[in-house]
Amino acid sequence: MAAESGLTYWVTSGTLGVVGLLLVMLVLPLLLRLRRRARNAEKAIDSTNDGYWVFNADGRFVDVNPGYCRMIGYRRDEIMAMNIADFEAVAVMPQIQAQIARIIQRGHERFETRHRHRDGNWIDLEITVTGVDQRYLVAFLRDISARKAADLALRELTRAAEAASQAKSDFVANMGHELRTPMNGVIGLTDVLLETPLDDEQREYLTLVKNSAESLMAILNDMLDFSKIEAGRLSIESAEFSPAEVITELVSAIAARAEKKGLALVCHIDPDTPARVCGDAGRLHQILLNLCDNAIKFTSRGSVTVRARVTSVEGGPQELHLSVNDTGMGIAPDKHQSIFQAFSQVDNSSTRQFGGTGLGLAICEKLVALMGGRIWVASEPGQGSTFYFTVCVKSIPVATLPAQGTATGQKE
Ligand code: ADP
Repeated sequence: MAAESGLTYWVTSGTLGVVGLLLVMLVLPLLLRLRRRARNAEKAIDSTNDGYWVFNADGRFVDVNPGYCRMIGYRRDEIMAMNIADFEAVAVMPQIQAQIARIIQRGHERFETRHRHRDGNWIDLEITVTGVDQRYLVAFLRDISARKAADLALRELTRAAEAASQAKSDFVANMGHELRTPMNGVIGLTDVLLETPLDDEQREYLTLVKNSAESLMAILNDMLDFSKIEAGRLSIESAEFSPAEVITELVSAIAARAEKKGLALVCHIDPDTPARVCGDAGRLHQILLNLCDNAIKFTSRGSVTVRARVTSVEGGPQELHLSVNDTGMGIAPDKHQSIFQAFSQVDNSSTRQFGGTGLGLAICEKLVALMGGRIWVASEPGQGSTFYFTVCVKSIPVATLPAQGTATGQKE
């Protein structure tokens, strides 16, 4: 019996020994790994330049790393005797307490604030706080003063650059009057002179003077309009006008140029187009004129067609849809966007065949946008181009126009 209980004792204690050994073999490495991690974390926290706090729900410090001591200029024992509100430059204690309660509830928060250094200077900080449990929170504090200063410097530079650019645009816009007045004098007096008896050579030279002055005036107008738009000084008018009249006037203005190049000029106004609408007839004319001038310039044979129609809700806003089509050289698809940028031309070479400033379409795009519409092009090289644009106009409840077709050269 004694031998039997002795055997049981040895078997039991042997089993326990094996289990204990297994436990030690499994648990010990785990404990060692945890200790190594804690030591590594401690080393990292002690050596980093970022600040590290452990604090309780009352805002009292439990631990602070050397990084925060260096950042704020106080010794560890001094900080440990203080409260986090003592460093805070933006929030006061009730706000801090509300924030602590929120973080404990949500678990995590990142925000920017400012702390007061011992020397009285402010430090901009980005703080990430994590609630460990109901009583303790851990925070990492990063000094972002340099980044903030750089942001501020960049903002000031941008403001200064914008002010300089505004001053330049204002100057150019103001110069408009000064430049146009003498140019109008040159063109007007050349016209008067052309009415007087001249020999053929004099007439030829004077016609060249007039053409050059008109080209210069067109360039001046483009540049001045563009600066005016850039300076935000261009306003859109709203007055009653007839879309059909605007288009008829346009056709008369370009008829001679189209005829000179042997181009047919076709115009089609949708019968449903209202007789009168409210909008800016002058700017509409300017956009159409620029598109038609281009169409004539870049087309050597065939036709130029202007179309207009209106989509509307009775009594509500109306959209005037206009298009200028030509049978000219066309535009490669990869240029369809860039031609609407200022100073952009499909052929930018110094030997380019056609003159121009590259501002016309940029002005059109801005004018169309100011009138609540958009502009785009459909074109293929060698297949001609169609420029489409829309503008918003207000309807006037009168009878719509009968079907119309105004054309110089050809009717549709
Ligand atoms: P500009 O005509 O003064 O050069 P625009 O802004 O009016 O400036 O036009 C930009 C460019 O778009 C033109 O230089 C030309 O390359 C291209 N373009 C405009 N309209 C046409 C068109 N109807 N056909 C072919 N190319 C065109």
